[in-house]
Amino acid sequence: MNDLTIEHVRTAILDVPLIRPHRFARTGMEAQPILLVTLTTRGGVTGTGEGVVPGGPWWGGESVETMQVIVERYLAPLLVGRRVDDIAGVQQAMDDVVANNLYAKAAVEVALHDAWARSLGVPVHTLLGGLARTSVPVTWALGTESAAEVIDEARDKLESGLHSSFKLKMGAQDPADDVARVVEVAEKLACDASIRVDLNARWDLVTSLRWLPRLAEAGVDLVEQPVPGAEVEWLAEINAALPIPVMADESLRTPSDALRLVRMRAADVFSLKTTKSGGLRATRAIAEIAAAAGVPCHGGTSIEGPIGTVASLHLACATPGVTFGSELFGPLLMREELLTEPLRYADGALHLPEGPGLGVELDPAAVARFTRR
Ligand code: MG
Repeated sequence: MNDLTIEHVRTAILDVPLIRPHRFARTGMEAQPILLVTLTTRGGVTGTGEGVVPGGPWWGGESVETMQVIVERYLAPLLVGRRVDDIAGVQQAMDDVVANNLYAKAAVEVALHDAWARSLGVPVHTLLGGLARTSVPVTWALGTESAAEVIDEARDKLESGLHSSFKLKMGAQDPADDVARVVEVAEKLACDASIRVDLNARWDLVTSLRWLPRLAEAGVDLVEQPVPGAEVEWLAEINAALPIPVMADESLRTPSDALRLVRMRAADVFSLKTTKSGGLRATRAIAEIAAAAGVPCHGGTSIEGPIGTVASLHLACATPGVTFGSELFGPLLMREELLTEPLRYADGALHLPEGPGLGVELDPAAVARFTRR
């Protein structure tokens, strides 16, 4: 139990079908691919992390296939023989042989935390310093379908009591049509629910300054990443012009990004994702910069399965500054949850599971059923 040395590293790609197709600005998916990275110690303890991007490489360039190669060929050889509690050392070693590839590194880093916590018999949040809360509110993501379809889906969710805020994906159509669609949804739902939009970096500055004020007037509460990630000056200009908060997502991957966004006052809210930032520790560093600058954080998603979702939940619960809710709905969008005990979504929130490590156990039969051959 106490030998923390890593004996072997295994990976598997799963294709988990969704309950409905999920559309982003320019692409969509019917199943979510997930890379599972499992570390086993000489003491016989295993830790698991998820490598997951939203559907494919469009968001950040990585995919489950690139992650599998990076982990198996370059990261696994340097992990074997090191201890799971040597996280800073392992991270330095990973950065020495692989630049970027933060999604792949996140899968490894979460697996290290899970294995280390299990070896100690404590939850992962203990390794992060304890709890600020035990649950986070969960926003539901609506796709790029017509206003009528989106309103129906939102009404069902409101009636079920599971969600009272919604995020609409935009950027799939001409801005005038897209804005008309969202205005219709916001005018129908804004009195009962919080409506947010995510442009996924698809507009330019002029389009944003022309159309986003119209969304604010219609009752939209927050605008996520209207312009490309690198265009932080545009984001700052939009943030200054809008009466509602702008949230940074594609512009925020590293602690240096966070510092730049803070200096330029480019975003009023930060979207934290354990995946895009390379793991729990870097994400925590971003949250500390945000806290020092008075910027609230939101628990973002790359549409993780249960392991990745719970990893982000531990971080959100252990980080006081995550006061802007979450979108940790990934498992709700999947047709199977892959766990022996289901996650607890109740009262509009996802509740932290109890138990050592991440506090969840994968169901081997379910994992086998969706493993790509
Ligand atoms: Mg986003």
